[in-house]
Amino acid sequence: MKNKNNNKKNFIKIPLKRKQPKKSNLANNLLVAFLIFLFVSAIFSLFEARSEKPEEVTLSQLAVEVNESKVSEIIVSGDNLKISLKEEGKLQKARKEKEASLTESLVNYGVDPEKLREVNIKIKEPSGFSFWLQVTLPFLLPFLIIGLFLWFMMRQAQRGSMQAFSFTKTKAKMSTDSKTKFKDVAGLKEAKEELKEIVEFLKNPKKFLDMGARIPRGVLLMGSPGTGKTLLARAVAGEAGVPFFHISGSEFVEMFVGVGAGRVRDTFAMAKKNAPSILFIDELDAIGRQRGAGLGGGNDEREQTLNQILVEMDGFERDTNVIVMAATNRPDVLDPALLRPGRFDRRIALDEPDINDREEILKIHARDKHLAEDVNLRMIAERTPGFSGADLANIMNEGAILAARQNKKVIEQKDLLEAIEKVMLGPERKSHILSDKEKKVTAYHEAGHALVAYELPGRDLVHKVSIVSRGRAGGYTLRLPSEDIKLKTKSEFLVDLSVMLGGYTAEKIVFNELTTGASNDLQKATELARRMITQYGMSDKFGPIVLGHKEEMIFLGREIHESRNYSEAIAAEIDKEIQKVLTDAYNKAKDVLEKNRHKLDKIAEVLIEKETIEKDEFEKLLKEIEKESKS
Ligand code: ADP
Ligand code: MG
Ligand code: ZN
Repeated sequence: MKNKNNNKKNFIKIPLKRKQPKKSNLANNLLVAFLIFLFVSAIFSLFEARSEKPEEVTLSQLAVEVNESKVSEIIVSGDNLKISLKEEGKLQKARKEKEASLTESLVNYGVDPEKLREVNIKIKEPSGFSFWLQVTLPFLLPFLIIGLFLWFMMRQAQRGSMQAFSFTKTKAKMSTDSKTKFKDVAGLKEAKEELKEIVEFLKNPKKFLDMGARIPRGVLLMGSPGTGKTLLARAVAGEAGVPFFHISGSEFVEMFVGVGAGRVRDTFAMAKKNAPSILFIDELDAIGRQRGAGLGGGNDEREQTLNQILVEMDGFERDTNVIVMAATNRPDVLDPALLRPGRFDRRIALDEPDINDREEILKIHARDKHLAEDVNLRMIAERTPGFSGADLANIMNEGAILAARQNKKVIEQKDLLEAIEKVMLGPERKSHILSDKEKKVTAYHEAGHALVAYELPGRDLVHKVSIVSRGRAGGYTLRLPSEDIKLKTKSEFLVDLSVMLGGYTAEKIVFNELTTGASNDLQKATELARRMITQYGMSDKFGPIVLGHKEEMIFLGREIHESRNYSEAIAAEIDKEIQKVLTDAYNKAKDVLEKNRHKLDKIAEVLIEKETIEKDEFEKLLKEIEKESKS
């Protein structure tokens, strides 16, 4: 787990040109507005302060002053009068009527024309900055404010549109020094062998080009989730020591049409600029699905994106030193065009790990953990058939968490065993208290599963029976194959069906009553029976035929997996056949349980008492019962 985090850290985001929007935007704007306000008021006060505040007088007062020969000079500018008195430095101001001239008004106010002649009257054209400011400001100010407002709006909008443009910028993350190496990947021998060649190409392209070889363009890693596709791609980059661009298929898909194609262009351009490099497209199936299969909208965008990828890959020169790697867990849905030579022509399948691989994976994830002496990773590997690498990494992590929660210094074997069940079934729910009646029903139900599994021949062994509820299950019977299984036979499936129905059957036999607890079992059994008949050709009635065909359709965002290619009549036949298979399985389980009723009672009794029976205990218990009944 720690390992994984380290990897993450190596991925630096390529800095985009787009500026990060600042949080203090509003504050900035307010500051600017405030400064402008200060500036304007400063200008105003400047003009005000130029003259020492003259005293304001009325026209009649002025008339009196003129008559008393106190006035030396009147400056007329517009309707404003500036009056200088004979008395040293005294200033006054007044306003005249608009319609009449100054002399006219003064005479009207009863000024002696003789006296008026003594006064120096100057007419000044109303001009100058202060005048204009005073006249225009009342009109201009609203415009100014509106303009300022608009300007801010525009700036905001512009920032928005800048963001819109950077949509098509790639989201690929680049890492230059991936610390992951091949030795961090357990198992997957063939895959590593293939990829070593790719590493060679990247390290020493000239050698291959001189031989006339074409550099492989695309490598497709195929495998179920958690098998280490992403990990392996990183390891290739780590080994080759070249820049590694990592982008997930879903990141090409956005709300806006055309964004995906733009991003593809951008991503490839970046990878080419940094050649030699690896461009890794994770979860390729998000965009690389078969074109034209789908109803409703949303499809065109994906098609465009996919087309762009094809175009870019075709556009590589012979010596373009960029290798496109991609990962998918659904190679079956990929567009055939992607798999054509010259594109993803190298296809590498990653298998589920077998027991040795599992042990190796566990060892890798145990490297940075403190394990107790008693830890046996081989045994954990034995107990985890069908687990993926990611599951195993998760087990080691959960084990560490369990140990830490109990303040232990080291991780013990039982922490890891507990972790297996936690990963498989969810955490124990000890607080889920059953009534005595419920406990009895659950005990018989699980005993039913376990006993049928024990009695019927098969490769799966009972590892644990428990009536402690876990996750959503009321109780559980852990049944694991004794070896790694690739192929399953029809008779094994039939045993599986009987085991699945064992719980249901036990309830029916013992209590002659059924509970809702069996519904999940029934659902799984029905699904399995249907698959046997329609997909595996395991029914006597229909023989070797696949009924209904898988086709990927997307309708209103939902995938429709299967479509029918048979008639209603056949559908009814299939249902009948399923019913027959299930009834047979039920009868077999019933047979087993009725013949071994004493064993069933004993197992249920022990379960009620102990709640959990482990594998060895279980086998010992049954041997004892068998011995007793013989004697
Ligand atoms: P996917 O195939 O879904 O891309 P990942 O590569 O992301 O799976 O694997 C998830 C995690 O599982 C990895 O980070 C790693 O810790 C672990 N893992 C998977 N396979 C292996 C493996 N073969 N060896 C070591 N660790 C593995
Ligand atoms: Mg992955
Ligand atoms: Zn059950």
